[in-house]
Amino acid sequence: MTSATESRHAKRRPNLKDYSREALRKLFKARGWPAYRGDQLATWLYKNGVDDLDRMTNLPAAIRSELAREFDLRSLEVVETQRSTDGTQKLLLAALDGVRIEAVLIPEERRNTLCVSTQVGCPLTCSFCATGALGFTRNLTTAEIVDQILQAMRQMEEGTTLTNLVFMGMGEPLLNLPAVSEAIRILTDPKSFALAPRRVTVSTAGVLPQIGPLLEVAPIHLAVSLHATTDEVRDVLVPLNKRFPIAELLHTLREEPNIHRRRPVFFEYTLMEGVNDSVEDARRLPGLLDGIPSKLNIIPMNPHRDAPYRAPTPEVVDRFAAVLHDAGLRVTLRRDRGRDIDAACGQLANRRPVCAPDGPLVAAGDEGDLEVEAAP
Ligand code: SF4
Repeated sequence: MTSATESRHAKRRPNLKDYSREALRKLFKARGWPAYRGDQLATWLYKNGVDDLDRMTNLPAAIRSELAREFDLRSLEVVETQRSTDGTQKLLLAALDGVRIEAVLIPEERRNTLCVSTQVGCPLTCSFCATGALGFTRNLTTAEIVDQILQAMRQMEEGTTLTNLVFMGMGEPLLNLPAVSEAIRILTDPKSFALAPRRVTVSTAGVLPQIGPLLEVAPIHLAVSLHATTDEVRDVLVPLNKRFPIAELLHTLREEPNIHRRRPVFFEYTLMEGVNDSVEDARRLPGLLDGIPSKLNIIPMNPHRDAPYRAPTPEVVDRFAAVLHDAGLRVTLRRDRGRDIDAACGQLANRRPVCAPDGPLVAAGDEGDLEVEAAP
């Protein structure tokens, strides 16, 4: 974080959307107000999508004016919206300190998925991802994560609703776990957004100590950016691998009690020509994933100027998928959405890719991608 950004950020007032319903009840109680008033505020903010205190007419005026003096209610504004020919919408959003992030809304026949960011930039420097090349500015707050959803919902056509949420935009969510956890509590609160936890997916490059705590928050799905079958290759693609190598990552997942058949891990594997697309790689995968309830998402690389990789030919992709298929793995081959507005995976953030090169944009139980095979 630069010192200028830091000081602007430090001056921010707390935002009411940093608080879950439970936290608002506690906040109100601590100020000597009845806890149920905190519930009322949560309903306005998260169920009704209202962030104007003047409209919260069932809250006493004295409470509203104290809140208005001490807290912000808005954290992001939409700077630009782009719509792809396939209906995908990319939102460019500005935070109060001026940083910009993007969120992508992907409408499909039976679901509407939103891909959200959790950091401005990313410290993990994965070599195929331009977000890593951008460096790291700061973590997003809970309010900034929640506001991506609220702003996206305002862009949706009347009568449609958000069905799936994926934390696969800019940043590594598990390096911002407190804010991400509180956002998940808000979004899965049955009295607020009421998103079913199984429709929420959080992606990680493999920050092992935080996987257990994340899965304790709610029965959400975990997506893991694997991208390689040997440490030699993964050390280059995902440098975090030097700290948490493949065997340690997979051991952690095998031992994690909150991963089971009903909550499999989505492994993401971005196929890069001549790097990780060999038949030997495909043959190694079943053994590596053995004992972990899993689904594997294969994503041909979206080339961009910040990385020296490109997608294999369709024949190589098919051959890779066929080996996995024959081995009985559950595999999906992702199709891109929003390529014409730079909103496909690897193309976000002011024409710069964000974490999304590895994001399946698929949530549990209803994959819309090309299903190569579902294991028995
Ligand atoms: S792929 Fe994800 S974890 Fe890796 S640098 Fe990009 S944003 Fe960070």
